[in-house]
Amino acid sequence: SSSSDSSPVQPDVLVLGAREHNLQDIDLAVPRDALVVFTGVSGSGKSSLAFGTLFAESQRRYLESVAPYARRLIDQAGVPDVDSITGMPPAVALQQQRGGRSARSSVGSITTLSSLVRMLYSRAGHYPDDQPMLYAEDFSANTVQGACPECHGIGRVYEVTEDTMVPDPSLTIRERAIASWPTAWHGHQLRDVLVALGYDVDVPWKDLPKEDRDWILYTDETPYVPVHSRLTLAEARAAIAAGVEPSYSGTFVGARRYVLDTFANTKSGSMKRRVAQFLTAAPCPACHGKRLKPEALSVTFEGLDVADLSDLPLAELSTLIDEAVERATGDLDGTETAGQALDEAARRDAVQQRVDAGGSAHEAAPDVRRTPNHSVEKLAAIARLGAELVNRLRPIIDLGLGYLSLSRTTPTLSGGELQRLRLATQLTSELFGVVYVLDEPSAGLHPQDVSALLGILDGLKRRGNSLFVVEHSVDVMRHADWLVDIGPGAGERGGRVIYSGPTQGLAAVEESVTRGYVFGGSGLPHRTPREPEGWLRLEHVTRNNLRDVSISLPIGAFTAVTGVSGSGKSSLVSQALPALLGERLGRAVQADDAAAAEGDELLLSDEPEELGGTVQGDLSGVRRVVSIDQKPIGRTPRSNVATYTGLFDHVRRRFAETPEARARGYKPGRFSFNVTGGRCPTCEGEGSVMVELLFLPSVYTECPDCHGTRYQSSTLEILWRGRNIAEILAMSVEEAHEFFDGEFDIMRSLTALIDVGLGYLRLGQPATELSGGEAQRVKLATELQRSQRGDTLYVLDEPTSGLHCADSDRLVAHLQTLVEAGNTVVAVELDMRVVAAADHVIDLGPGAGDDGGTVVASGTPAQVASSGAGASAPYLEAALR
Ligand code: ADP
Ligand code: ADP
Ligand code: ZN
Ligand code: ZN
Repeated sequence: SSSSDSSPVQPDVLVLGAREHNLQDIDLAVPRDALVVFTGVSGSGKSSLAFGTLFAESQRRYLESVAPYARRLIDQAGVPDVDSITGMPPAVALQQQRGGRSARSSVGSITTLSSLVRMLYSRAGHYPDDQPMLYAEDFSANTVQGACPECHGIGRVYEVTEDTMVPDPSLTIRERAIASWPTAWHGHQLRDVLVALGYDVDVPWKDLPKEDRDWILYTDETPYVPVHSRLTLAEARAAIAAGVEPSYSGTFVGARRYVLDTFANTKSGSMKRRVAQFLTAAPCPACHGKRLKPEALSVTFEGLDVADLSDLPLAELSTLIDEAVERATGDLDGTETAGQALDEAARRDAVQQRVDAGGSAHEAAPDVRRTPNHSVEKLAAIARLGAELVNRLRPIIDLGLGYLSLSRTTPTLSGGELQRLRLATQLTSELFGVVYVLDEPSAGLHPQDVSALLGILDGLKRRGNSLFVVEHSVDVMRHADWLVDIGPGAGERGGRVIYSGPTQGLAAVEESVTRGYVFGGSGLPHRTPREPEGWLRLEHVTRNNLRDVSISLPIGAFTAVTGVSGSGKSSLVSQALPALLGERLGRAVQADDAAAAEGDELLLSDEPEELGGTVQGDLSGVRRVVSIDQKPIGRTPRSNVATYTGLFDHVRRRFAETPEARARGYKPGRFSFNVTGGRCPTCEGEGSVMVELLFLPSVYTECPDCHGTRYQSSTLEILWRGRNIAEILAMSVEEAHEFFDGEFDIMRSLTALIDVGLGYLRLGQPATELSGGEAQRVKLATELQRSQRGDTLYVLDEPTSGLHCADSDRLVAHLQTLVEAGNTVVAVELDMRVVAAADHVIDLGPGAGDDGGTVVASGTPAQVASSGAGASAPYLEAALR
């Protein structure tokens, strides 16, 4: 039922003639101050309407109003293709992040809660007797003032050990005992220098005196000496005695120093990776990984230093601060100067805010630096800052994110978690009269938590805001005041308004694909669970919040792992399972190493989390583990659907085989935009160039030379079936499917892409523009196009997130065919319709974070539904009906 407690909603925002992307010149009227949900299958045009048209236009007007000179900028950023939009309030968009995220940002920084916490420590922390008070920025490891001087705020120091550098001490130096030394010529030179320095390189490493071993490995001295090439120590001595002319002079460098210097300075990605294997990261001995200077760590709040406090789950943090606020308020009530102290605290908050906004720290009143512990001033600061913190933590916890901590870095968050964090942060920003444009805010939420999300959306609406939400959750659709159904199909077969009105009215619209899911009638057929071919056991798994978890997984079957957000699904399925199984099978998991191959950026800082556990049972049916995750398929616009699936190789070969290309001597490489030759030299094949703008974010603009085609005009003169290579990249998968009819190797990839519901993607769509769900389906398609051997275990993390129910159903049908072919599928899944279609279900919980991490129910869907245990049972029961 709809939530409308309000008076009949009036259509307020009017759109006329929208033609962005596939939108077919549509007119639309939607209400303000209401929850408007945009639905439709993937590629139907929901985002083109909500983000590409409504939000883009609102942003364009905003830019225009604040900066008249921004005209040029707006033209570059693109004006939505629409005749007119009236009645549109200013808009705030919260999109699921695409592409990479900075490891420097954390839950604390994106919610700005960390700056409040730092103020709390600065002003209300408990200081050692002899220590003056610190400024808020002294509690940040990202500032020079706050960072630990030993590790410069990194928290780790990189070291090398004898064990890693000399893996086999029975070898001699000549036999390359020091594995970390360079190979080839430079390695020989270092050996010869050692001989010249009087070391014996022909005895086993372990027989060298410790003193010599230590010097060779750890010295920072770099002696430069004359060298006789390739001699033993005895021969060299004889040569010197005989006055033989030295071959050359060489510099010695210790093994440790070689590794550290190379790691720090090399520009070569492969060199860096080679030496990195000898490095171990250890917690910094000065700050023990806490990244802060000792003075900052000596200040405590409720007995915790700021690093420990930032590691607490937010739910626990909130309770702890709440209790401190209560106590402080109680103590204050007993004092005469309480009111005065609160006023003073407010004044200092204001000063601090000016400092945060870029003012000088020393503007903060110097008297602050000597406020005694337990003083009225401190109590007042706790009361004010603490209450503010608790207030701002509440919506985050309500959205089911209480298991996160302030210190959790953003690359380890899912897109859904990140969006909900931003949403919760908006809630306390007290804006009103704006439109929030949201992209599937229910992603990653268990049905049990969706009601909390709806409460948050209602709260924003009550405050006088409008909500335009692109959604696939039927629960959110049912809660909407107004539904806009776009479609009926994807790409050219979509882009029309199928329905726009109160949700109930959709029931009468036969053309709508969405209708059958909201009102019943559509869905996956009920099926009888398969008999597994065998069972595999994961035992005593420890990872994140999983502590000694053991599970059984059926081979040759489809397993769904479910549970509330933060219960440990990803830790189990995406992290522990592939790692443990890969280890047992004796080979690494086949994942996406395109990213690693592309960048020379080596993330040693991504210290692997602790992992424990074993794999038991009959593994004869499993030869390969393939993890199909939502990580981007590439981090640069140079990788796209065509290159990732491999179909572009075939396309380039077709072009090179044309008579004209042969006559000109063009090889397949000529048609690549990733290597020099045929690509546009101005933009180096990117199709766009970046324009830096003062005070504004830089924008990409179409390359003036190739006009976005990425190629030189000479390359574009070559045609295959009447089209040039740039025109091929501009085709959607579906268009290409018609165009390449009869070309088996190309069609195989295209068919697989259409099968996973990606027919609407353009072949050249940059990897960076794909959502996590789309990237995952590109990987799935790449797998599906391979010939099936029936011995693979597929691991998927929320494969249906971002998908319309109709698209999920298609995807599930494909997973079932993989299983029919003898493969095993294990998927994290929150849509109970899909869970109901599995052969085996594992429900994790009961709660999130430390309150989760155990198996609360497992068995066939029917068994889990009737178990009465766990958050999923009631929803699963409903789905099985
Ligand atoms: P939805 O949000 O319903 O999944 P989109 O609005 O993202 O659909 O896409 C609708 C159509 O517009 C698709 O055919 C898609 O390929 C196309 N499209 C999306 N983004 C672009 C773009 N940047 N340039 C050209 N076409 C696009
Ligand atoms: P789910 O997939 O069920 O949402 P996760 O497996 O992502 O749950 O998380 C389970 C617990 O492990 C949570 O407390 C979460 O904060 C923690 N966790 C998950 N990934 C990481 C990580 N990379 N670093 C630290 N903690 C993590
Ligand atoms: Zn340190
Ligand atoms: Zn160009």
